[in-house]
Amino acid sequence: MHSFDKDPDHIAVEQVLRYARERLLMDPIPLDGPQTEDYLRSAAGQTITAAGLGATRAMELFQHTLAPACLSTDHPRYLSFIPCAPTREAAAFDVVVGASSVYGGSWLEGAGAVYAENQALRWIADLAGLPEEAGGVFVPGGTVGNLSALVVARHTARNRAAEAGTGARPWRIAATDNAHSSVVSMAAVMDAEVCGVHVDEKLRMTGPELRRTLEEHGPETFFAVVATSGTTNFGVVDDLESVADVCEEFGLWLHVDGAYGGAGLAAPSVRHLFNGIERADSFILDPHKWLFAPFDCCALLYRKPELARLAHTQEAGYLDVLTQAPEWNPTDYSIGLTRRARGLPLWYSLAVHGTDAYVEAIEGTLDVVRHAAREIGQRPHLELVREPDLSVVVFRRLGWGPADYQAWTDRMLAAEFAFVVPTTFRGETLTRFAVVNPHTTKEDVTAILDTMG
Ligand SMILES: *Cc1c(COP(=O)(O)O)cnc(C)c1O
Repeated sequence: MHSFDKDPDHIAVEQVLRYARERLLMDPIPLDGPQTEDYLRSAAGQTITAAGLGATRAMELFQHTLAPACLSTDHPRYLSFIPCAPTREAAAFDVVVGASSVYGGSWLEGAGAVYAENQALRWIADLAGLPEEAGGVFVPGGTVGNLSALVVARHTARNRAAEAGTGARPWRIAATDNAHSSVVSMAAVMDAEVCGVHVDEKLRMTGPELRRTLEEHGPETFFAVVATSGTTNFGVVDDLESVADVCEEFGLWLHVDGAYGGAGLAAPSVRHLFNGIERADSFILDPHKWLFAPFDCCALLYRKPELARLAHTQEAGYLDVLTQAPEWNPTDYSIGLTRRARGLPLWYSLAVHGTDAYVEAIEGTLDVVRHAAREIGQRPHLELVREPDLSVVVFRRLGWGPADYQAWTDRMLAAEFAFVVPTTFRGETLTRFAVVNPHTTKEDVTAILDTMG
């Protein structure tokens, strides 16, 4: 008997698919919540053993002990950080991706998957107004997307400097304080330096402030500008038009980080905020945030993908058959080699529903946030910090300090009523709703606000 043939009746397959089916169709879903390691050690015990637990016991452990100790980020009242609320179709298709052993790194091995993923990428490129030649790859998240794009920006800038014989090796990135934490982290990975650009009164990067930063440090020392189209805390979209003007003037790579907010491109009511994005050299958008796809999925797009290919293609004798082929190999456009065809759940859901349903769902979340802002404005003990542009809203409870916000968060989580954590801005503790779940209703946000006394 083969060592993996302990389950001739395929009990594991039946049980896993039954669980997946139940979870995919569950309504309502429980919020659940974290447990201590001591609790898990006593409830689950040692799960990896020499003889194995068998399919039934392992599934029971997951269903009754481990899964309930994980928050459901798709719960309609999970409004912290950026939730993940895939469509049922996208989440279901993720099971298929796992079941199919598709290799998504090369055309040779995964042509059908790459073709489908590229159509989903094309839809996003069209929303942004990127040219026909634009293209890219789905990577695990915005952090890897930002890093991959910035590596291309630096590679391109250094090649250009080498050709011009200036000997310059630009190492700086311009970004505002509101740029995502991953920009600073990934700059550290690259041994690059982030120079802060001041924001205007709307918390945006603008061309004039960008110019001031570039001139202060010497424009030739920069290789990229990172603008954000939807900051994580507030949903602020930088003034991309004036920023693009300055990038063009100095010949600088413009990377637009739309990991959270990029999905707003599909919503007519906020599309104007993104004007200028069509001039980006690279752009990211996380479908696992506001585009109803499961973890983990970031669309990374380049205006000129051949520049990315030059920076990222890995060369080795055993890869020649791939790298010398003329077809599109997704792996050549980001860091990493092996890749899951992680764009397929988004592709399937888009193919099923059509893009109009996405436009409607995104507008729906914007409506819920506008409702929350109105409710906050009408309550004397609550105050908006800033009118929301996209689907996050930050507000204060007058009279509360950090401990009050935390105690409120803890109470709501313990009751499995809602998950809303505090945030801070300029030293002040505040709270924040991020709505990316089409099942979050106006009644949900009203009910949460009602608990703030
Ligand atoms: C979430 C986020 C990121 C990081 O994306 P991950 O998928 O979490 O790695 C980068 N930029 C912005 C603006 C984000 O909101």
